[in-house]
Amino acid sequence: MDAESESSMVHRWECHCGMPPILLGTFDEAGNVYVSIRKRHYHVIGRITATCPRCGAVRHRPPERPQS
Ligand SMILES: [Zn+2]
Repeated sequence: MDAESESSMVHRWECHCGMPPILLGTFDEAGNVYVSIRKRHYHVIGRITATCPRCGAVRHRPPERPQS
């Protein structure tokens, strides 16, 4: 279970409401977000909001909470 070795620049955007976590998409260091819905692949530049299909939580990318 070590997926970081392949692509260190791309991170998983997931909701950790349960196991296994729900994968909402992926994002990279530059702020690009990649979401795959069925057979379509979306490349988002800027902000995106996703609703977790399992717990219904609204997830923002980038996160809206201010930095500490
Ligand atoms: Zn969830």
